[in-house]
Amino acid sequence: MHRISIKTRSDVDFQDITPQVQELVASSGVESGVCYILVPHTTAAVTVNEHADPSVVEDIIAHLEVMVPRHKNYRHGEGNSPAHIKASLMGNSEVILIDGGRLFLGTWQGIFFCEFDGPRNRNLLVKIIADKP
Ligand code: ZN
Repeated sequence: MHRISIKTRSDVDFQDITPQVQELVASSGVESGVCYILVPHTTAAVTVNEHADPSVVEDIIAHLEVMVPRHKNYRHGEGNSPAHIKASLMGNSEVILIDGGRLFLGTWQGIFFCEFDGPRNRNLLVKIIADKP
């Protein structure tokens, strides 16, 4: 298992982590297999979406804000229920196939670490598994 340290920059922050994960896959030497990406946090997430046009991520962030307003009658005493809810909506894992020694992503796809209660120091776990020979 590999661990990537991520320092998030603000309350809500999406960071394109595709190059770091691609680098782990390359250095693993795995030509064909599976890459699991897990976020071991309850107020952060991981998602795969367009990383060519940054306005896509801006729209996702803006609409999550509409779907999960900051100030509602939340019960959780810590006061960060919106961050917990957004993290569950986005999910804490992704599975990406490895083909030809690289992550098999669509032309416009990138992997984003999603912070919802930052800034913080976060971890991302990556497991790379080769096909059976
Ligand atoms: Zn909480």
